[in-house]
Amino acid sequence: MVSAVPAPERSALSIAQRQFDATADALGLDDALRAVLREVKRELVVHFPVEMDDGSFRVFTGFRVQHNIARGPAKGGLRFHPAMSLDDARALAMYMTWKAAVVGLPFGGAKGGVVCEPRALSVSELERLTRRFTTEISLIIGQDRDIPAPDLGTGPQVMAWIMDTLSMHAGFSVPASVTGKPTAIGGSEGRYAATGRGLSIVTVQAMRDRGIDPSGARVAVQGFGKVGAVCADLLTAAGMTVIAVSDSSAGLHRGAGLDLAALHALKEEGGSFADYGGADRIGNDELLTLDVDLLVPAALEAQITRHNADQVRARVIAEGANAPVDPDADLVLNDRGVLILPDILVNAGGVVVSYFEWVQDIQAYFWAAGEVNSRLREVMVRSYEQVNARATAEGIPLRDSAYRIAVEKVAEATEVRGIYP
Ligand code: GLU
Repeated sequence: MVSAVPAPERSALSIAQRQFDATADALGLDDALRAVLREVKRELVVHFPVEMDDGSFRVFTGFRVQHNIARGPAKGGLRFHPAMSLDDARALAMYMTWKAAVVGLPFGGAKGGVVCEPRALSVSELERLTRRFTTEISLIIGQDRDIPAPDLGTGPQVMAWIMDTLSMHAGFSVPASVTGKPTAIGGSEGRYAATGRGLSIVTVQAMRDRGIDPSGARVAVQGFGKVGAVCADLLTAAGMTVIAVSDSSAGLHRGAGLDLAALHALKEEGGSFADYGGADRIGNDELLTLDVDLLVPAALEAQITRHNADQVRARVIAEGANAPVDPDADLVLNDRGVLILPDILVNAGGVVVSYFEWVQDIQAYFWAAGEVNSRLREVMVRSYEQVNARATAEGIPLRDSAYRIAVEKVAEATEVRGIYP
């Protein structure tokens, strides 16, 4: 997205811990459990050389962090991004623990990544980087231990190289060691679109529940990647009109609705929104504060903060990205009655279908797209209804409700297992 929003002022982990602390207070969690759950369990930092195409070597830094594995193997994406940090990996790993718990998956939370600009690397440099990074973190990942998946800057091809590297080390194919793979090697139907699909299922239902007619609703989407581009299409299919989108080069606005097919075609040709002439250009702050019914921040964290929260005019915000609304902004928006569909619920579709992929790989028995999508719908609707019911019963925002449900499950698992030795 366009860089008009100031950088976050607090560390990502301290923001994640602040949300956890508020939940622990509300649940009256005992001190020992609280101390365990507010820290990450395990973190690995690696520095590794990669041969560049010109024969030189560069040393890259990568991370893999596991926050909690009380409910099952660690699960979470790998991010290739120049601003990736250990602090981000810790916070995002903690979000993954809550996300898996709130939708009832038997996983703990992890996250990792490499500090790099993948778009500045050739395909062969990216492959060498991925394979060496995989080898470095193979100390702690694996199908029963910690299963990576795509995140910002990674996708099916990177997952294929990870699967192949781990399989070459094992001497046989280990498809369940990573999810978000191409279907040719054990990927699941429906995985690519799963986050956007889950988001649109929950968003449409939540709008209807509050008497907001999805048909004709105006939408702004920040980010046009795996999440933003897919949900722009699916929200349109649900009758909404997408009037603004952005990528990292530019924001686009057209009051009568954007030509999404033209924007997909532009992206497929490797173009960026800065090259597009069919709409007005807008800045990032303008996109986030447009007069729309629904805003979908689907790019990076900390996009809506105390600096711009009071200017946001959307009635509903669906958090496609992880942590795009920080806790200060949350308070402002809740006070103003803006409905926030929290990340750990609304963008959980990706990890839900990752779970389906892992199950299919382990059973070596694969499902048709229709079955994947209908099971995804079932999980998303059931989880939303649980979160919504508790929010109503306790008179709290959906985020607080989702956190209470998730933290309770992880706390119960941690407690019943006991502290070893
Ligand atoms: N990176 C995605 C997320 O943040 C997906 C993780 C997964 O599928 O394991 O939820």
